[in-house]
Amino acid sequence: MTVQPHDVNADLHAHSIHSDGTLTPRALVERAHRQGVQLFALTDHDEVSGIGEAQATAAALGLRFVPGVEISVTFAGHTVHIVGLNIDPANEALLAGLAHTRSGRMRRAQAMADGLAAAGIADALDGALKYAGNLDLISRTHFARYLVERGVCSDTREVFGRYLVEGKPGYVPHRWAGLAEAVGWIRDAGGVPILAHPARYRLSSTELWALFEQFREAGGVAVEVSTSSHSADDRRRFAQMAREFGLEASRGSDFHGPGESNAELGSAALLPRDLTPVWHRYC
Ligand code: AMP
Ligand code: MN
Ligand code: MN
Ligand code: MN
Repeated sequence: MTVQPHDVNADLHAHSIHSDGTLTPRALVERAHRQGVQLFALTDHDEVSGIGEAQATAAALGLRFVPGVEISVTFAGHTVHIVGLNIDPANEALLAGLAHTRSGRMRRAQAMADGLAAAGIADALDGALKYAGNLDLISRTHFARYLVERGVCSDTREVFGRYLVEGKPGYVPHRWAGLAEAVGWIRDAGGVPILAHPARYRLSSTELWALFEQFREAGGVAVEVSTSSHSADDRRRFAQMAREFGLEASRGSDFHGPGESNAELGSAALLPRDLTPVWHRYC
């Protein structure tokens, strides 16, 4: 009997210390297995260097594993994220694209530290770097952890609201990959492009519609309907968008580490049964 994909506990979005998560790929995969995840993807930001360790750990545990990535994209002046699943992590076009996408991060981090220093918080770059497991991938999350350590805020969510989002002292606009470009890298590497957590974007409804249209036109396949930052209303809304645009649906925790994330590995809400789970191809 073939397994029904809806009944598989798939968690297709999570981060390790190779980007802004706090666990090693090995510890992350072991935790996913303990939590009852049956199909797992590592999707570090703009980076695939954790995949080998994750894959080996999953193989030893008998856990089905999908190599992934989450690419930072600039669309209509906003940052959006595109997850790529089942990519070949050795594909040269993908590796070159990711290296280019990562390349401005250290310069941006220096400018963020300058902004924070002007707001009275000195030495934030050195502080943030202590938290970065991958110097190529210094992220706002690492600054947020350092500001919590300093006692400037009580949690990372507060740091983002007060310091790291548009209009705040540590925010520095940055130009990431183009939408069609990122989708193209994923497809070239044999992967499936997925629009990540669409409710998080501060887009007008016209811009959101354009994002879905351009994503699909570029070769996008699925949208994350169930993710830890989506409310029940968000899930209903984007399930409907998936139906209207003929997109498949994905599910993932967007786990970054114990005590840091909204949702434990494998615990995001189930998808509505009429949607096609993007992981049907891996079951
Ligand atoms: P970056 O790619 O350096 O701009 O950092 C983006 C990362 O910051 C996201 O992947 C999240 O992990 C984290 N993040 C963004 N917004 C928030 C928020 N409001 N609260 C906590 N973490 C956030
Ligand atoms: Mn992140
Ligand atoms: Mn994201
Ligand atoms: Mn993510």
